[in-house]
Amino acid sequence: MAVLEDPLRLVIGDKAAKRLASALGLRTVGDLLHHYPRRYDKRGELTELASLRDGEHVTVQAEIAAVTIRRMRNRPGTILEATVTDGRGRLTLTFFGRGRQDWREKVLRPGLHGLFSGQVSTFKGKRQLAHPEYELLGSGDGAARAEQYAAELIPVYPASSQITSWQIADSVRIALDTLDVAGDPLPAGVRDRHGLCGYADALRGIHRPVDFSDVRRATLRLKWDEAFVLQVVLAQRRLAATAYSATPRPALPGGLLAEFDAALPFELTIGQQLAGATIADELALDHPMHRLLQGEVGSGKTVIAVRAMLQVVDAAGQAVLLAPTEVLAQQHYRSIGQLLGPLAAAGQLGGAEHATRVAILTGSQGAAARRKHLLDAASGAAGIIIGTHALLEERVQFADLGLVVIDEQHRFGVEQRDALRDKAGDGRPHVLVMTATPIPRTVAMTVFGDLEISTLTELPAGRSPIATHVVPVADKPWYLDRAWERIREEAASGRQAYIVCPRIGDEVPGDAPGNASPPPARGGSAAGDNGGDDLGRGPDDDEQRRPPLAVIDLAAGLAAGPLAGLRLSVLHGRLPSEEKDRVMLSFAAGSVDVLVTTTVVEVGVDVPNATAMVIMDAERFGVSQLHQLRGRVGRGSHEGLCLLVTEVPEDGKARERLDAVAATLDGFTLSRLDLEQRREGDVLGAAQAGRKSSLKLLTLLADEDLIGSAREEATALVDANPALAGQPALAAAIRSLLDEERAEFLEKA
Ligand code: ADP
Ligand code: MG
Repeated sequence: MAVLEDPLRLVIGDKAAKRLASALGLRTVGDLLHHYPRRYDKRGELTELASLRDGEHVTVQAEIAAVTIRRMRNRPGTILEATVTDGRGRLTLTFFGRGRQDWREKVLRPGLHGLFSGQVSTFKGKRQLAHPEYELLGSGDGAARAEQYAAELIPVYPASSQITSWQIADSVRIALDTLDVAGDPLPAGVRDRHGLCGYADALRGIHRPVDFSDVRRATLRLKWDEAFVLQVVLAQRRLAATAYSATPRPALPGGLLAEFDAALPFELTIGQQLAGATIADELALDHPMHRLLQGEVGSGKTVIAVRAMLQVVDAAGQAVLLAPTEVLAQQHYRSIGQLLGPLAAAGQLGGAEHATRVAILTGSQGAAARRKHLLDAASGAAGIIIGTHALLEERVQFADLGLVVIDEQHRFGVEQRDALRDKAGDGRPHVLVMTATPIPRTVAMTVFGDLEISTLTELPAGRSPIATHVVPVADKPWYLDRAWERIREEAASGRQAYIVCPRIGDEVPGDAPGNASPPPARGGSAAGDNGGDDLGRGPDDDEQRRPPLAVIDLAAGLAAGPLAGLRLSVLHGRLPSEEKDRVMLSFAAGSVDVLVTTTVVEVGVDVPNATAMVIMDAERFGVSQLHQLRGRVGRGSHEGLCLLVTEVPEDGKARERLDAVAATLDGFTLSRLDLEQRREGDVLGAAQAGRKSSLKLLTLLADEDLIGSAREEATALVDANPALAGQPALAAAIRSLLDEERAEFLEKA
């Protein structure tokens, strides 16, 4: 008898094992049994041939209609052509042979049904499979075949050019017959509460179902395995985090935080108060906080972070704020400095009594400034240290790091969190991760599943809505003139505008759009701060199209044309950092009317007097990215306007996405749409290759309820039984998930 961990060769022999390993990377019995059918064909129900696409590897069930043999013209040998049909469409199977191929003609008899497997191509207008593998139904010999075809459903596996679906099915059958399923990864209680079948049943049900109710039962159960095992890992990680010690940083009366609150010019929203109270409590504990604060664009996450940082400073610790771009780091440095006023002026004239200092560390600051700020961080003179990834460098030292805040995190801060954590000396720092855009609940539970989650859904009162319109310049070119006119009107009434382009322009060699490395993930990554092109590519990109509009070209054109006379500046990642800073400062101060920019302003930038944004080639940006960009306007009391300029046709998919962005201001709705349209792997990210492949049946959106229930069950189990005593099969499933996730990733987290 075999167990799941056994290598395949022990069960199906060397040859078949080698083939499965090289074609599909399947090595153990468990690997094979978790390679699930893509679909099930009903016996006698023919595959719709019209649906086949060129280039696809397919397995079709069809009836042989006719067979012909002819001699090849230029070479000895024959071509046998078998035409198969589903009753309507036709497909040609082509076999080249040295000899006369009589034997094949005898086998492929008209009227027989068979499975045919190969790559679809078109030759002289006809769909064909050249040299397909085939398996005739009902004509096979041997008990195995008879049994296989006794079932009504034929599983069709994801196959490849090296291996056919029925070769996989053969191996699966042997594996199932010899398998000894010792235990069940799902505890009995979980199965009972959720009406799930046993593990062995599920494996048989998904590979050898008698009918579709078998498939459904098995699929539900195996989805639970995927969700539950992952959530147990995450729950264990959350629990393990509480075993580390951290210095408690309780709120102290009469400190900087109290003074800050007293001077705060607005009232915190209910959501801000709740999240703030939770964070304040967790900072006071003697184990590290690990919390994700996610929220709508503009919901006011920064002030929550500042309050948390001040609480830590009051308790004699230091806090770090990590920003994804230099522009944002500088903005935080300025605005936090302003918010704190005398509270941040330690050692200066007029500094408050317990005042601290705010330091900034970025990659491109001057050596003298850097030295001073490094010293402030190391000596503890600076209570708050703001920076970009430069903060992660080894030379950066802290006196007593108590809190790490990661702002506008589109992706996972696992590595960043880790690098900073190492700088905290004995205990571990508390960690607060803030997302840039709302993310669907299940993504939060999966990607950030080792964090506790707080969510801000409301915007502060008094915000004016942002009106968003699509400007279809291909159909109505004159709309663009109207857009520029609107910008002039905003400027005339003293307000400011952003114009966003997908590209910087004026490429240095090797930096042309064609060679650009893939963008840091459309639909949601931090804008590049590395001087690279912040090119956001749309999903239906195609080489034939003109290159995307560029900041440098457009700015010149606008200054000489429709926006002549306005004060224009350009901003992009290739500018030297003092220049970026100068531009941002003068825009924030109101001495620039229009900022022509790349997505370096995508996240976090907060200039309340900016009321209009024009996004050029808008279809090149992802849905969440557009929502995030648009969040730069409508931050003050004046109404915001966002124009999505595009040349895509009105009836296409790309236009649909833009219309969706125009139709709602709800980031949670848009984040779901984004997830539907992008492959989940893109969402989970490359760092999580293992997690991607471990979610085979589960889909993050459709299985939201299941994932939620699995998380509850997993948390309860780990709380009650952290070592998973008496659950050897679960422990084994976790081990194999961890192997996949690569030890590296988990160890770091
Ligand atoms: P985000 O959550 O997108 O990071 P910010 O923290 O940048 O949002 O906040 C956006 C703006 O709202 C800032 O100018 C901030 O000062 C302001 N703000 C935050 N909280 C409130 C509030 N409760 N009432 C009014 N304005 C607020
Ligand atoms: Mg922010």
